[in-house]
Amino acid sequence: MTSSKIEMPGEVKADPAALMASLHLLPSPTPNLEIKYTKIFINNEWQNSESGRVFPVYNPATGEQVCEVQEADKVDIDKAVRAARLAFSLGSVWRRMDASERGRLLGKLADLVERDRAPLATMESLNGGKPFLQAFYVDLQGVIKTLRYYAGWADKIHGMTIPVDGDYFTFTRHEPIGVCGQIIPWNFPLLMFAWKIAPALCCGNTVVIKPAEQTPLSALYMGALIKEAGFPPGVINILPGYGPTAGAAIASHIGIDKIAFTGSTEVGKLIQEAAGRSNLKRVTLELGGKSPNIIFADADLDYAVEQAHQGVFFNQGQCCTAGSRIFVEESIYEEFVRRSVERAKRRIVGSPFDPTTEQGPQIFGPVQEILRFKTMDEVIERANNSDFGLVAAVFTNDINKALTVSSAMQAGTVWINCYNALNAQSPFGGFKMSGNGREMGEFGLREYSEVKTVTVKIPQKNS
Ligand code: NAD
Repeated sequence: MTSSKIEMPGEVKADPAALMASLHLLPSPTPNLEIKYTKIFINNEWQNSESGRVFPVYNPATGEQVCEVQEADKVDIDKAVRAARLAFSLGSVWRRMDASERGRLLGKLADLVERDRAPLATMESLNGGKPFLQAFYVDLQGVIKTLRYYAGWADKIHGMTIPVDGDYFTFTRHEPIGVCGQIIPWNFPLLMFAWKIAPALCCGNTVVIKPAEQTPLSALYMGALIKEAGFPPGVINILPGYGPTAGAAIASHIGIDKIAFTGSTEVGKLIQEAAGRSNLKRVTLELGGKSPNIIFADADLDYAVEQAHQGVFFNQGQCCTAGSRIFVEESIYEEFVRRSVERAKRRIVGSPFDPTTEQGPQIFGPVQEILRFKTMDEVIERANNSDFGLVAAVFTNDINKALTVSSAMQAGTVWINCYNALNAQSPFGGFKMSGNGREMGEFGLREYSEVKTVTVKIPQKNS
């Protein structure tokens, strides 16, 4: 395998001509990939489901069955929670481990993912339908960078000393919450896995994670790498299964202290309700969006057309961040629509393993709504007129317009003259019905720690 100089992360550039010219330099999928890991991963061991049930996993590009996977449900979740609780108990190897060593293990995991980048990207294509090059350059790069970013944080989570009133010395400790239940969707199977486990482990928690039933294969492969990296048994447990059974068991489990969920708003509401009814576990939710992308007439038109196109079509349009409401200033509206239609027609749809493919099999479809606006006040009001608030974007060469719009947007992330520019270092999450809390960046650490205040009475000399 060789690697290319073509960079695709961040602002996603899928230039078929450049790709064609560099085919001999591009990484290639792992041929005849063997699917080795199809069982439940608890306590660093591969286990069958207690019920004996399995479920089929498909290649969405062909509809063919790839393999069968053990189906976890409530009893298996109970087993995993027991393992995770034991791994978290006071005095355990994990609890006694130096923070710097936790960071080293996360770094080692990143190295192993890098070593196995091609088979993992192949699995993301085979099971998730992503173009292989996208999986390799975007998803896998995000996974490696996320693990490395949080590896670096592990021994830098500082408390504070606080000048309280009276003869006291007060400081805070930022401690892990405990056992974290994590439920992830199918559109970014491995990236969401990394976004979930990396901050949780960085802070010293233990994890029970359920991948989506459609795409469990790369998460299970990670089980093997987690064991190879040297994480102690029970620290990370991976349970493939369905939402209403395994997922619901995680959400309502009284042995789970925190739940992090990425998926639909409908299921997010169920998770929050179950968390409240059971043990008021901490909840973070990353949910859907209906995001506005605002194009002013002074923007670079070709660039804005391409960015708006990628903003809605990237990953087959199967993105929480999809910029599906595009507002275009009246004077350039007709031309913007003409160029957008032309660009959409040129999009190359095909096998995920063909290096020229921009778009693989569809599940839900990208719909690019292009709407006309006249004034800034009008577009701000219309853009915010949504129950969601995940992201927003604005394209303009006028810094005043850009800053006015970015401060007015009711959204967790605002991109100015770019789209889908996500990074491990910056927080991500939603306003309104797009979620609760933030993942990634330093803010992500807060969602995986409890703050403890310790106050010491200082004896006075003459007392
Ligand atoms: P979904 O909510 O149906 O499923 C997501 C996960 O929840 C799966 O693992 C599923 O098994 C589980 N689940 C389903 N029912 C459950 C229940 N009753 N209890 C517990 N768990 C349950 O979502 P989906 O349609 O498969 O995934 C795509 C959605 O994810 C889209 O709405 C997309 O916008 C959203 N998403 C959001 C982000 C974000 O960061 N905000 C990122 C990626 C995807």
